[in-house]
Amino acid sequence: MRIAVIGNGIVGTCCAAWLQRDGHHVTFVDPLGPAEATSFGNAGSLSPSACLPVGMPGMWRKVPRWLLDPLGPLTVRWWYAPVAAPWLMRFLRACSADEVTRIAAVMRGLLAPIFDCYEPLLQRAGAMGLMRRTGCLYVYSGPEAARQWAWGMNLRRSLGVEMRDVDEEELVALEPDLKGRFRFGILAPENGSTPDPAALTRAIFDRCVADGAEVVRARATGFRLRAGSVTGVELEGLETLDCEGAVLAGGAWSARLAKQLGPAIPLETQRGYHVTVESSNLALRHTVMAVEHNLMVNPMRMGLRLAGSVEFAGLTAPPDMRRADALLARGQEMFPHLDTSRVTRWMGHRPCLPDSMPVIGRAPRVDNAWFAFGHGHVGMCSAATTGREVAHLVAGREPEVDLGPFAPTRFVRAA
Ligand SMILES: Cc1cc2nc3c(=O)[nH]c(=O)nc-3n(C[C@H](O)[C@H](O)[C@H](O)COP(=O)(O)OP(=O)(O)OC[C@H]3O[C@@H](n4cnc5c(N)ncnc54)[C@H](O)[C@@H]3O)c2cc1C
Repeated sequence: MRIAVIGNGIVGTCCAAWLQRDGHHVTFVDPLGPAEATSFGNAGSLSPSACLPVGMPGMWRKVPRWLLDPLGPLTVRWWYAPVAAPWLMRFLRACSADEVTRIAAVMRGLLAPIFDCYEPLLQRAGAMGLMRRTGCLYVYSGPEAARQWAWGMNLRRSLGVEMRDVDEEELVALEPDLKGRFRFGILAPENGSTPDPAALTRAIFDRCVADGAEVVRARATGFRLRAGSVTGVELEGLETLDCEGAVLAGGAWSARLAKQLGPAIPLETQRGYHVTVESSNLALRHTVMAVEHNLMVNPMRMGLRLAGSVEFAGLTAPPDMRRADALLARGQEMFPHLDTSRVTRWMGHRPCLPDSMPVIGRAPRVDNAWFAFGHGHVGMCSAATTGREVAHLVAGREPEVDLGPFAPTRFVRAA
């Protein structure tokens, strides 16, 4: 089948690679090159343990304090509050203990096969070095602080995530750079990361092209429909691209196109930031999640990347790089000896649904288009599994993951 894949971030790229393995002819449609949007600058964590939603029980109590701090971990720019309000209400409704438990179980199903699903793609691309399984350390100022997050950690354990408590002595042995600031940790040994998320995406993309994928550098503006099927993708400034099927993987920009093929989907952008310390003098071996600082730290090829922050301000407002600086300040608290003489800053758009789960499934109004977007905070982790599952759907095979909870229609039911 000739399939147009809209979006060549990590999700679209993995969908294309899995579709090619089934013999489909793929055309990428994107005005940008591979991994030039959100998949460029994420923290690169590949975590089967990352199954908890963003909204957790009791979070609503912290939100007012966060909102008052414009550089805090979660902020809504005041002029954007009326736009974000309905989404935030849905988000808060998904924070009940029952709902979080349900979502975590569903997401665990999507995240557990991370490495199995990336491996064939990276093997084929000759890029296995871009995926490593070195474990993740969740670190805390002490065991008392860790107790505040125990409910979520125990939920992870109950879902089969391997996690082991680490006392101060072992913590320092595992990561000497953490000495002094952190007295307790939890090691998730099955977790991994990539030393360069953009290079990983490009490696898979380049292999797809070498294997025959075509590339159209244009924005998709709509679909040409005939008798309940997509027969083409309309392009800005170019002729309509003929196709026999389409996958929409446009990240945070997917909602408008999705609306043409189904009911409205409440997709919002949670803008996140990174600061990469180019010539880091630290020698971290794990990804480190400083839970109290809301900060993910990952040693990468280009330096030490500190990433995090959630900002609601839509798709077009310029970045507020003071938020990246706030991440750097938290990094300096963690590592007082960090050499910060050369840093780069970045902002990206996490595509987020209120229940922290992506949309994966057939487009409701047609028989030959599929949605794969909304991967939020875990798009790197879940892209390869999404690609495999989309290929199953296109082929009419039984999915390996229960895709019911990811249905594009679930928000209609909820409303
Ligand atoms: C600070 C930060 C840290 C993160 N850390 C992690 C992490 O450690 N681990 C993890 O798993 N995830 C992480 N994420 C999330 C992850 O980066 C995203 O979930 C993932 O990159 C989304 O990939 P995507 O392919 O859906 O979107 P994108 O990478 O944004 O790609 C979407 C593509 O679609 C194209 N597009 C949009 N509209 C159209 C159109 N109309 N026509 C054609 N093309 C279109 C865009 O140009 C773009 O190239 C992080 C995110 C941020 C911001």
